This record gives sequence, structure tokens and C-alpha cells, in this order.
Amino acid sequence: VLEKLVKAEKLQIVSHLAASISHEVRNPLTVTRGYIQMLSEDVSSHTKVRYANIALKELDRATDVINDYLTFASISPENTERLRVSEEIQHVVNSIKPLANNNGTELKLSLFEDGAFYIMGERKKFQQCLFNILKNGIESMDHAGKIYIHLIHAASTIQIKIQDQGIGMTQEQIYRLGEPYFTTKNKGTGLGMMVSYSVIKSMDGTVHVSSVQGKGTCFSINLPIHKYEPN
Ligand code: ADP
Ligand code: MG
Repeated sequence: VLEKLVKAEKLQIVSHLAASISHEVRNPLTVTRGYIQMLSEDVSSHTKVRYANIALKELDRATDVINDYLTFASISPENTERLRVSEEIQHVVNSIKPLANNNGTELKLSLFEDGAFYIMGERKKFQQCLFNILKNGIESMDHAGKIYIHLIHAASTIQIKIQDQGIGMTQEQIYRLGEPYFTTKNKGTGLGMMVSYSVIKSMDGTVHVSSVQGKGTCFSINLPIHKYEPN
């Protein structure tokens, strides 16, 4: 019993720590970035500008890693609970809208003929999972494009389809998705898909990826529907 308690306490500390990193480290990073940005504009010294630019790149990398893990981290530890799929998707779409707008990406949702479908999972982790997939979709398009998000209902599973019109992937790239540090981006972390895949796995779900180079990519996430039995 004691051992279990200690373990639960440790877990709680880890989750608390994660949220602190997100909230308390992100701010100083942003402030530091502002000052170094000013240094980098000091035209009187080439060396300073060079150093400042290196520092900026490293700061951005730290922020990217935090974003892939902790965008939705919260102070209180998480429980597995009943989640309404459409609500979670809506929430993540709202959070990522600024990024989409910046990139000229239109997010097209069709979710709501569904009535209500529920799944079991940890809310913040599930949101992070969707966020990372949507973010990749946005980043895959260097032109104005659309991402279609559909909910499809089968007998015992719910399928979330996320279809972009981006650069697409090769077979090998699809195969390597979820591998830590696998990235084809200049400033990628290669951590986003690892997080998404492990969250889906922890929810007893599966992911299918189909992709055509130059046309786009479709992620299909299948999750078991939670049968709600009122009594
Ligand atoms: P990062 O985005 O930091 O590179 P991820 O783990 O999120 O790391 O993604 C890994 C790689 O998978 C990306 O670098 C990219 O090559 C590929 N990828 C993921 N999603 C897409 C997508 N929607 N379209 C094209 N390539 C993708
Ligand atoms: Mg990513």
C-alpha cells in the first residue's frame, strides 16, 4: 500500500512539474527571446548578431519541444474520463486557429450530425495528440490550403479523419512516423508524432496514414466508443 502511495505521489509530482515547465518556463523564454531579438538587430557588431541568431534558434527549439509535449498540460493530475469526441476536437481546433490563420490554412469541420459519441481517455493528452497532428497538417502546406476534419461512426469505433492538402509523405516516411526524433523539417523536433501515437495506443486506438506526395495526407484515428449506460 505504501509503495502504491509513493508511486501515486511521484506521478502527481511529475504531472505538476510538467505543467510548471509549460507555464513558468515558457514565459522567461519569450522574454529572453525579445531581448536577444533586439541584440540581433545591433548592426554595429557582426559577431554579436551571429551569436544572437544562434541563441534565438536554440530558444525556439526549446519552445518547440515544450509545445509538442505540454501545450495542454495542467497543474492537476489527469484521470481517464469519458470524453465527448466532437467537443475535444472543437477545443483543439479553436486553440490552433491562430497558427492556421497565420499559414493561410482553412480548417473545415464536419462533426455534428453525430449526436454524441464518447470515448475514454485523458483529456489533455488527447488534445495534445490531435493538436500535434493538426499542426503537422498546417506545416505541410506552404500555400493556402484546407484541412478537413471528419467524424465517422462505425459499430463499435469512432473514426477521426484529418485530411490535409500538403506535400505528402513517402512510404518510408509513413513507416517512420512515431519514431522519436524523426523529422524532415529544418527546425523540427521529431517528437510530435511520437506523442500522438503513444496517446492513441494508450486509448486502445489505432492510426492509419495514407498519403500522396504533392497531394496530401490523411490520418485516420480509430478509437473504441464508450458505451454509456445510464442506470
Ligand atoms: P516535426 O513536426 O517536429 O518534424 P513530428 O513527429 O510531428 O515532428 O513529425 C515527424 C515527421 O513526419 C515530419 O517531419 C514530417 O516529415 C512527417 N509528417 C507528419 N505529418 C505530416 C503531414 N501531415 N504531411 C506531411 N508530412 C508529415
Ligand atoms: Mg510536428
